[in-house]
Amino acid sequence: MKVEITEINVGVDMGRKGEPYRDRHKIYIFQDKESILENIIHRRNRPYEDYKEFVIPKVMEMLDFKFPSHYRSVMKEKWGYRQNCGCSMCPCSPGFVGDNKTYDPLDIFVTIKF
Ligand SMILES: [Zn+2]
Repeated sequence: MKVEITEINVGVDMGRKGEPYRDRHKIYIFQDKESILENIIHRRNRPYEDYKEFVIPKVMEMLDFKFPSHYRSVMKEKWGYRQNCGCSMCPCSPGFVGDNKTYDPLDIFVTIKF
């Protein structure tokens, strides 16, 4: 499967008041050119197995290239998909959560084109 990362940004110390998994690194994946309506429709049925197999390795590659110090912070994580990654109230913010606790959790935002 061919995946292209069109954008990657890293948020440090984003103030995660009330968020689940507050002490873990997170990766949020967005589809390029997706409308808000499409996002709402698809938020519960993302191809997270494909994300895990094809997108996460690319994210690590890209982090290493663009943000090497952040890459070193997250390179050993095992990533698990969570529907409630960013919000415990509703399924609005699915994403991948790292398996290690950390005092300086990163929010990694990735936009992809399949
Ligand atoms: Zn929500």
